[in-house]
Amino acid sequence: MNSPVIEDPRPAGTFRKRHQLPPLAYGYAALEPIIDARTMKLHHDVHHAGYLEKLNAALEKFPELRDSPAPSLLCNLDRVPEEIRTAVRNSAGGHVNHSLFWRAIRPNAAREPGGALRAAIIRDFGSIAAFKTRFETAGAALFGSGWVWLVQSRQDGGRLEVITTSGHDHPMMQDRYPLLLNDVWEHAYYLHYESRRAEYLKACWSVLDWEEATRRFERPYTSQEELWEAEGGQLLQTAGR
Ligand code: MN
Repeated sequence: MNSPVIEDPRPAGTFRKRHQLPPLAYGYAALEPIIDARTMKLHHDVHHAGYLEKLNAALEKFPELRDSPAPSLLCNLDRVPEEIRTAVRNSAGGHVNHSLFWRAIRPNAAREPGGALRAAIIRDFGSIAAFKTRFETAGAALFGSGWVWLVQSRQDGGRLEVITTSGHDHPMMQDRYPLLLNDVWEHAYYLHYESRRAEYLKACWSVLDWEEATRRFERPYTSQEELWEAEGGQLLQTAGR
């Protein structure tokens, strides 16, 4: 017996590429007890997937945007139609930031930064410990939902900074390249840490991966456009459905 044919209700030529959820490179329970399995599963399969659903829905009517990687949509919001600009800012930001986050944390993470990054942290913060305190303090102090980042500025000779962004805004929107990050939305920690965000931030040092941060720091220098392209290509894939 033949399977029923499912008709695609959209007219020919409509948008078919979809931004996709990157799989986790480890199991949901791999980061226990620092990040519990239920939090990981909800965070990846429900929260991150939800941003993708919203992003794909927003882009459905705008096929001219289909070849833009999510990071470049985010960095060129002025070219996104006003009607979907806020939705794209929130959902492309949610997609890009979470895609980075799943790679920034891992089981058996490298506990210390490597050579050149280590030297730059000591140059700009005084010591690794001073940097960690700055990162924890900034993350704990951020009002509402957002992210805390170690970034490299595109100006000032590549100086390192700790910054926070609200919602799902991303450092490359302000010409800063992300090296290390943590999610301080309540959905990232509330099941296990309840309101103790500072405790979560401190505990996370054993799952934040300095090897990944070092790799990001030691990337070859490229133009802003190439950097976006590389970020999009490495992290984020679109595919037909
Ligand atoms: Mn999150």
